[in-house]
Parts: sequence; C-alpha cells; structure tokens
Amino acid sequence: MPWIKFYTFGCKANQYDTQVLREKYLSLGFKEVENGSADLYVVNTCVVTQKAEGESRALVERLKKKNSSAQILLVGCLQRLQGQEKGSGRFSPNLEEEISFFAGHRRAFLKIQDGCNNFCSYCIVPYVRGESRSKPKELVLREFTRLFKNGYKEIVLTGICLGEYGKDLSPPSSLVDLLKVLEELNGDFRVRLSSLDPQYINEEFLNFLSQAKKLCPHLHIPFQSGDDFVLKKMNRRYTKEFACAIIKEIRKKIPQFVFTTDIMVGFPEEKEENFQNTLAFLEYLKPLKVHIFKFSPRPGTPAEKIKNQVKPQEVQQRFLALRLLEKSWREEILNNFLGKRISFLREKEISPGLFSGHSEHYLNVLLQTQEKIPDEFIEIEVKGMRGDWVYGTL
Ligand code: SF4
Repeated sequence: MPWIKFYTFGCKANQYDTQVLREKYLSLGFKEVENGSADLYVVNTCVVTQKAEGESRALVERLKKKNSSAQILLVGCLQRLQGQEKGSGRFSPNLEEEISFFAGHRRAFLKIQDGCNNFCSYCIVPYVRGESRSKPKELVLREFTRLFKNGYKEIVLTGICLGEYGKDLSPPSSLVDLLKVLEELNGDFRVRLSSLDPQYINEEFLNFLSQAKKLCPHLHIPFQSGDDFVLKKMNRRYTKEFACAIIKEIRKKIPQFVFTTDIMVGFPEEKEENFQNTLAFLEYLKPLKVHIFKFSPRPGTPAEKIKNQVKPQEVQQRFLALRLLEKSWREEILNNFLGKRISFLREKEISPGLFSGHSEHYLNVLLQTQEKIPDEFIEIEVKGMRGDWVYGTL
C-alpha cells in the first residue's frame, strides 16, 4: 500500500485544491501518513509573495534530501508558473471537482470560483490562475449539502475573486443569487465568505447581508491600503472614501458587524504620509485583524518595474508600526463583546475541558467547561479577554 503526504502553502483555495487531490489519491488506495516517510509527497505551492515561493521551493529541496527514493508531485501556483516559463501554457484548475470532507478541519472550505480578471499591479495570481471561472450553482448546492450532511456546520465559500462569481455562467448569475439559494436550505449551518474585494460590496449585497440568517456578520475585505495615491498605483478599483462608506453602511444595518483585512506596506512610491493615511483609515474603521504583507516584487507584474521601491528598513518600520496598532484595534473590538452573547462552534479540545472555536463574528473563542459540548452551535456569554481570544461561559 503506497503512503502519501500532502503539504499546502497559501490560500484557502489551495487548501481546497489539496483536498480534491487527497480524495482522489485515497480512492486509488493511497494511505495518508501523518509523521514519517511517504512514497509520494504532494506539495501544493504558492507564489503570491517571494517568501511563500521561497518556502515552497525550500520544502521540495528538503524532501528530496530526506527521502531520495520518494516521488514528489509539485502542484499549485509555482507549478503553473514554471509551466508558463517552459512555454507549456496556463494550467486551469478544474471547477468540476467536488469534495466530501475536509481533513483536519471542523470548518470546510468549498471553492466556488477560481481565477481573477482584476490584474492589481503587484499581483501574480491572474497570470497563474487564469481568468475568472465559476462552479455551476447546482454543483455548489450538491457539494454544500454533502459537506453539511457529513457534519460540517460552517462552510466557507472560497475563491480567488468571489465577487466575480457567476458572471461567466450561462445564464449569468451572481454571488448574491447563490447565497440566496444556500440561505433557503434547511439545517443549522452558517456560511462564511473567505474574502470579498470592496468594489463588489454593492447595494444588493448589503441588503442581502443585513437580513441574512446564515451568512456570518463578518467579512474579510482586503483593502490593501487606505491611501488613494497608493490604491491607484496598485490598480485597486475603489477609493478610501468608498471603503469607509461601505463599512459605515454595513455597521448601520448590523451594529456588531466585524471585518478583517489585508494591508500591504511598502508598495513602491508609498511615502510616509501615504502610510500615515492608511493608519488613520484603519484607526477610523477598526478592523478585528489585519494581515500585514510587506511588498515583494513579483517578476512579470507592473509593480516590479516601478523605480522608487521603498527601502527595506522603512518597510520593516511600517510593518512593526501597523502590527502594534492592529493589536490595539483588536482589543477594542473584543472589548465591545464583553457581556454579549455569541454563537460558538467547537473546533478543538485544547486540553481536557478547554475548547476553542470561532463565533459568527470570527472571534477566536475559548470555552472552559466540564459539561459535554455538542457538535452544534451553542450560545455563550463573553466574560473576558485573553490575548487575541475571548473566553466565555455556557
Ligand atoms: S483582486 Fe487583485 S490582488 Fe486579488 S487576486 Fe485579483 S489581481 Fe490579485
């Protein structure tokens, strides 16, 4: 019986792609190894930053040294990039594959869309994942229902550019159309979106979100910057004013709405004053979490060719300054939840009687109890904070 081991770098879409491969290989008779050597290593790679690409390459080298008789299957964005360099063209991930479970997770990721048409000036993704493509609604429904029946109560819809969902289908559809169908399904589950770019948050989406029962009151909105000069250079398709307006509008309809975001520091030509604008923007909006990326030039993208790259030490200073502030914004948001009731879904038992999971707002939650915790949503009261976590009681 051949043994197999999977490694995944990068985004939730990659994690889904690995799960597709896992189910294929398991059905062929492979057995997954946790620790120890395998006969086949599948490395699902990422090239979104220099760091991610370097880590993917380094792992392949380590595996080659560790087990020279094993086979290594390189998949994902690095493989697609190398394919292009060798002239074998663009590799298109298939959207007709389906999964039944999600190894090692209590929340399942379901990829409904792949590719991107936006070509932000720093981003390599559209070159390696191709143009936007959507999974037909009937397939999403079938896969969603199967995952729910298999015990997944939170299903995270993932994609590279979810806002483009449905535009390529025949007849054309939209993310809101799909969410409306999922909302009608029976059962106690919640739906989360992995990420949604600001320009797709339109009135139709806002109206849906404000009355949705199953869509979480949390969005990951990758703003990238809060400065109009930088946003323009990045070829992002919105302004700071628009970004502020959507968050204000959502909070008007859902006062406890929480958002997380991605911010890139050190984009070429970003001056200190541009960076300060981003800090002021975030200070005003108060995200729960900021994933901070240091700009790294990706060969073949327009941003790589911009002359005035920011000095590494300045990039590092901005990174540290933002990291410090984002912690204080998180504390403020978590503080607002003290004494409130939230819906908790247990994901892990960290130690006997100590459980961790997420709330509908994407708060990291700890629950200490000697009682038996069901595999269902339970209501808990937030009693306090421990670092980046809130803890509560039944
Ligand atoms: S929206 Fe921009 S950053 Fe996101 S994948 Fe597309 S091109 Fe890249």
